[in-house]
Amino acid sequence: MEYEAVIGMEVHVQMNTRSKVFCGCSTNFHAPPNTNVCPVCLGMPGAMPVLNREMVTKSTMAGLALNCTISRWSKQDRKNYFYPDQAKNYQISQYDLPLCHDGNLEIEVNGVKKDIGITRAHMEEDTARNTHTIGGGQSGVDFNRAGMPLLEIVTEPDITSSDEAFAYLTSLKQILAYLNVSDCNMEEGSLRAEANISVRPKGQKEFGTKTEVKNVASFSGTAKAIEYEIKRQIKVLNDGGEIIQETRGWDADKNRTFSQRQKESAHDYRYFPEPDLVPVVMDDAWEQSLKDSLPELPAARRARLEDSTGLSPYDVQVLTATKAMADYFETVMDQGADAKQAANWIMGDLQKLLSAADQDIMDAKVSAVDLADLLALIEDGTISGKIAKEVLEAMFETGDAPKKIVEDKGLVQITDTGAIDAVVEEILANNPTQVEQYKGGNEKVIGFFVGQVMKATQGKANPKIVNEALRAALNA
Ligand code: ADP
Ligand code: MG
Ligand code: ZN
Repeated sequence: MEYEAVIGMEVHVQMNTRSKVFCGCSTNFHAPPNTNVCPVCLGMPGAMPVLNREMVTKSTMAGLALNCTISRWSKQDRKNYFYPDQAKNYQISQYDLPLCHDGNLEIEVNGVKKDIGITRAHMEEDTARNTHTIGGGQSGVDFNRAGMPLLEIVTEPDITSSDEAFAYLTSLKQILAYLNVSDCNMEEGSLRAEANISVRPKGQKEFGTKTEVKNVASFSGTAKAIEYEIKRQIKVLNDGGEIIQETRGWDADKNRTFSQRQKESAHDYRYFPEPDLVPVVMDDAWEQSLKDSLPELPAARRARLEDSTGLSPYDVQVLTATKAMADYFETVMDQGADAKQAANWIMGDLQKLLSAADQDIMDAKVSAVDLADLLALIEDGTISGKIAKEVLEAMFETGDAPKKIVEDKGLVQITDTGAIDAVVEEILANNPTQVEQYKGGNEKVIGFFVGQVMKATQGKANPKIVNEALRAALNA
């Protein structure tokens, strides 16, 4: 029997508001445990929540970027359950009327584009964090995380492979980062992905029973967990077994999923409308002003840059990986630099320096304008490409302008033909064997001579003039 996989993703994104979703407590991740707390997020009876307006703003921006319809009227609901991470014994979430719904996100796998439907994106509060590593047989609860602002983004079961799931997560994260609505920091848990996975015989309409894989630390881990789960489910079915609807964890060391708990269904939560909060009413003017505030999104930016620069899709993808990188690249071009040159230097030498220093382009001492000036110095023949690498390293270290470095270090290219001719003459006189080889028809020794001249001039001679001078002298 041939099977196909059906996958839907649920992603919890912590929005980067300064205060929590229903109280004024700070969202600072690094605060000591239980210091960012108040009666509201500690769930004291009678404490009254108030919805953070910035949360609505940022969630709406995310919804718009995912082509969602923004509800004109949405509300909060109580999701009831007992667990020590939730002092109120309910989580405030959105049930039947989410803020955003019916959107889509375009992904690309191996050059093939596909729309993944976004079912909904709803606002909710995070729960406290339980830790079992404090020692003494005790567990700790940190309420700093309780009430953190989350947007839960749920897809249609449109995903059919681990590659598509990976592409979806990567491009979702990129969009959220472009919007600056979340730090998207997976280590700090500000982006958490859950995959719902089922398989069915190819051609069958009905979905199979799904399992949900949670608590995976990375996108590549999620992709691996999906692959494992598809294989596991097919094997269970082929062996005549049945898939149990359950939540499974991912063991990254053993590369396998394991059963965690049977899943509750929605009616177990006894959802009902949150009576302490007013509904969110979004009008056309508010939505329009948020639409107007959206930056150019990654897909649009890629298309525009491919068009206007003629660079390869791959280059453009690298250059637009982050908004900061794309802004940098475009600033270099705005200064008049050639697109291909700018791309090569940013993706090559500059990226190498950044990686070695574990730095982001935003923090680089080399400004986009200075990099453009460096490229201009190559273009007008003041320095060679080789010397420019050395200048860039100095710029990266000191933040000095390229002109200053070139002057301070005396790196101006030698273009004086008289001076180059003199060096050429000397080199030829000192290497009669190689001169004979050249005259005997071995054109390749020209490379040796060029190297010698460059060495003698500390790399400062203009390579084009050196080549011409050498050929002229050797052929004379
Ligand atoms: P639950 O109530 O268990 O959370 P939902 O119906 O809300 O289930 O769906 C959660 C996610 O699972 C969504 O992304 C949805 O597209 C996906 N999903 C639903 N049914 C299946 C299925 N049979 N196989 C794979 N994914 C599914
Ligand atoms: Mg679920
Ligand atoms: Zn609080």
